[in-house]
Amino acid sequence: MEIKADTTVCIGAGMCALTAPQVFDQSEDDGTVMLLQPAPPADQEDAVRRAVTLCPSGAISIA
Ligand code: SF4
Repeated sequence: MEIKADTTVCIGAGMCALTAPQVFDQSEDDGTVMLLQPAPPADQEDAVRRAVTLCPSGAISIA
């Protein structure tokens, strides 16, 4: 699994960081998504899929 995050689309809602905190964080400056693990380990994949579903702006996707 590989994740892509588009900070130009992200609205800083923070659902990703709440749902998969080992994979996503938020910028202290503007709250946009920061990718901690672009290729997360298998045990994070369920949380990542949930985060992608919950993101209100469609800023994160799985490649
Ligand atoms: S859930 Fe989506 S909109 Fe919210 S911070 Fe994460 S990527 Fe950005």
